[in-house]
Amino acid sequence: MYRNFKIVPNIIFGRGSFNQLGDILKPKRVTSDSYMVFVLDDVFKGKTLESRLPMENGDLLLLVNVDDEPKTAYIDKLVAEVKAFNGRLPDGVIGLGGGATMDIAKAISLMLTNPGGTADYQGWDLIKNPAVWHAAVPTLAGTGAEISRTTVLTGPEKKLGINSDYTLYDQILLDPELLAGVPKNQWFFTGMDCYIHDVESLHGTYLNEFSRAYGEKSIELCRQVFLDDHPDKDDKLMMASYFGGMSIAYSQVGACHALSYGLAFVLGTHHGIGCCITFDYLDEVYPEGVKEFREMMAKHDIKLPRNLTAGLDDKAMDTMANVALGLAPLWENCFGKDWQQIMTKERVLEMYRKM
Ligand code: NAD
Ligand code: ZN
Repeated sequence: MYRNFKIVPNIIFGRGSFNQLGDILKPKRVTSDSYMVFVLDDVFKGKTLESRLPMENGDLLLLVNVDDEPKTAYIDKLVAEVKAFNGRLPDGVIGLGGGATMDIAKAISLMLTNPGGTADYQGWDLIKNPAVWHAAVPTLAGTGAEISRTTVLTGPEKKLGINSDYTLYDQILLDPELLAGVPKNQWFFTGMDCYIHDVESLHGTYLNEFSRAYGEKSIELCRQVFLDDHPDKDDKLMMASYFGGMSIAYSQVGACHALSYGLAFVLGTHHGIGCCITFDYLDEVYPEGVKEFREMMAKHDIKLPRNLTAGLDDKAMDTMANVALGLAPLWENCFGKDWQQIMTKERVLEMYRKM
């Protein structure tokens, strides 16, 4: 069976396109008591971006913190705040930030119209009601969260997305000018998330011409950004992120992402850096990709942390391996149907012990 998948219907791209956000929101403000919720990464508190938000009387600004990756309890708290703000639902939720903030805004828009707690919906197609109209404005490029049908959340029991067609954004605004000011290491780690999406998609057994077309273009753009230092690198990275997301939407990620989820679950390692750490130990699986990744690291003088697992006991190591091995589709994409013969628990533990 082929998947009939939904994509974001409205996209605006270009330097300075942020100035059009107010016009985009106007038709959504349907009644005199309509209002918008702006979900802004608190790194922008008091910064120019905050003052440029096209806020109108009655709108709500939610400054969100992403020092830790988003948790379901945090979403519950934010949703309660929005519900307490005004007797009615907002007419739009706009997320402005990196992957974490975009995921928070997606989750808020879903949970405003679906009963119960956020953790109840971690999984596939559990959401019953359409979300509040939601839009994203990325300020960091690489995760592809702007185009994906998931919002990745850590709940009490698992790190797992709310995957549904309703999760997808209704509108995205891609303005490369907003990437200015991202700290160098963060720019690199989030950009490598995109590069790794491409490598894992292009080397996967799930690959098809749809995914290949997007993946090949995305990886070419990543090379222009991270090896050629192209003058339009922000524009290119923004499109690479989108294309990388489109590539994995119809294929899957692989070994690196599976291993990084184990690190994230046990150690709280953030997604971009976590993927870089695990990718660096996968030369046997993705020899060309890892070689090129190391050239990119050397060019940008990036150093990865080491000895992350040195202090962990057997129980923690066991959990880490179980989380990684639990992601069967990722392993199957990487190695094929017989992946369990290739990626044994002992092999996973051996790799983790080196990290
Ligand atoms: P992030 O959103 O966690 O942000 C990283 C840091 O950069 C934060 O401190 C943030 O405040 C800061 N920042 C963001 N924009 C900035 C700017 N313009 N200037 C200065 N600082 C800025 O990082 P990310 O790598 O974009 O996202 C990672 C998150 O995305 C994880 O939570 C991960 O689970 C999620 N993710 C989601 C998907 C998806 O499909 N939904 C895919 C991959 C990753
Ligand atoms: Zn990723």
